[in-house]
Amino acid sequence: MSFLLTSKPLTRRRLLAGAGASGVVLVAAPALVRHAAAQAWRAGDPFCLGVASGAPRADGFVLWTRLAPDPLSSNPATPGGMIGGDVTVGYEIADDPGMREIVRHGEAVAEQAFAYSVHLDVRGLQPGRPYWYRFLSGDAASRVGRASTLPAPGAGLERLRFGFVSCSNYEHGYFSAYRHLADENPEVVLYLGDYIYEHIEERRPVVRAATLPTYRNRHAQYRLDPDLQRVHAEVPALITWDDHDVQNDYADKWSQYFDDPELFLLRRAAAYQAFYEHMPLRPIMSRPEGPRMRVYDRFTFGDLIEISMIDGRQYRSREPCYAPPDKGGMHLETNAGCPERLEAGRTMLGFAQETWLHSNLAHSKAQWNLIAQDVLMAQYRVKQGGADAFSTDNWDGYPANRTRLLKRIQQTQVSNPVVVGGDIHSFFANDPKLDFTDPASPVVATEFIGTSISSHGPPYEVIAPALPDNPHVHFFESRRRGYVCVDLERTRMQVRMRVVSDAADPKADISTLKTFAVEGGRPGVVAA
Ligand code: FE
Ligand code: CA
Repeated sequence: MSFLLTSKPLTRRRLLAGAGASGVVLVAAPALVRHAAAQAWRAGDPFCLGVASGAPRADGFVLWTRLAPDPLSSNPATPGGMIGGDVTVGYEIADDPGMREIVRHGEAVAEQAFAYSVHLDVRGLQPGRPYWYRFLSGDAASRVGRASTLPAPGAGLERLRFGFVSCSNYEHGYFSAYRHLADENPEVVLYLGDYIYEHIEERRPVVRAATLPTYRNRHAQYRLDPDLQRVHAEVPALITWDDHDVQNDYADKWSQYFDDPELFLLRRAAAYQAFYEHMPLRPIMSRPEGPRMRVYDRFTFGDLIEISMIDGRQYRSREPCYAPPDKGGMHLETNAGCPERLEAGRTMLGFAQETWLHSNLAHSKAQWNLIAQDVLMAQYRVKQGGADAFSTDNWDGYPANRTRLLKRIQQTQVSNPVVVGGDIHSFFANDPKLDFTDPASPVVATEFIGTSISSHGPPYEVIAPALPDNPHVHFFESRRRGYVCVDLERTRMQVRMRVVSDAADPKADISTLKTFAVEGGRPGVVAA
């Protein structure tokens, strides 16, 4: 039975409580209700930024939208063209894409403090099945989105298709890769960072987002893209971030540009808040508090796979041998030039997250265990003046933490560990080892890095010559844009590296560049 809320007046209410026992956001008593001036959205479509679902659980998920009738409003006092206090919007959740069999309906709050975004944490649904949803406000209705609940923990699951993506730079190309990924009907898409780029390098001087209104508008600009809107409307999202969601190569409170750390934390707070405002993250966990925001999270798909989504930026140690840009720093250091890189106390994950991840690995009962994170984990050494040199922004800048994690994987004998990442705008297929320089060192996991959605790749001719010095790397390609689509079965993972014909073409087509596999019980890349 259909139940429409459009006949009810649009109301604005103060938020009283963050979440009730059901996890659904509560609103204040009717005494505080006042009627909105405009039930008709004459100024523009309030749902023009689309809808998204994410953070799935066995009994629910988070549904997202953001009211923005004037999405790129230049007035910081009226984000998205909205004025006044919190706004309630209606929502409907249905059994069918036609929204005929409504199984849940009610009201959600678009919070003024968070740019009128909605993070509706829905619980109490059935496990392992799709639902469809939409939001309603006055005479406006959002597009219909698809969400799904996870299979119950431990429930038998035979297969899962998922995609992973990173690095969508608006100025570098169209987001055709998002459209083609949606066409493959994955159950979930993992967003591994650089969802936005905070700077526009094509402008001179370079334009950088630095404040809440500018980060908000950068997100809104991306969210207006039709291919991006489609993949979010059709496929649930698991989300983490990388540096460009805040600032290139930042680490915790340490800016690439040597900003005062206290000032940089103000920028980080603005970037984190705008990120939260535009992502289907769980409000009870991810609502930012100043410059702090938790995004690392764990998702269990029945007995088939457990996914740990990792935050590789917020808690990491300062880049080793941190020095002003006029040093000519290429973020590439040798052991002799930078002993700090090898210090045992350096951390990529921070103590709390590292403990949490180690616990996940020790306790998981899933067939496959995915560590989904932002940057290249395998070592990649290049020659610099005859010596081995290492990038300091990825795990090569944090080798002690990498060794602890790989040893933990080996000690726990966690079933079928696989690492995925992004950041480097290249495909990689790697065999992570306890000691990358020792050919006899055992392979303890398998790693796949996905290329960028649109961001330009690093020069192939600079990186490829070092491949013979890195025999644990089976494949590298930096010249193509796309994503990775994974078909998982109980005893086999198939990994397709998918590439668009031309990121500069909004109608680009898609093909498979390379296919690899992982066989259950045997870590390491195999040909497929
Ligand atoms: Fe990137
Ligand atoms: Ca990055």
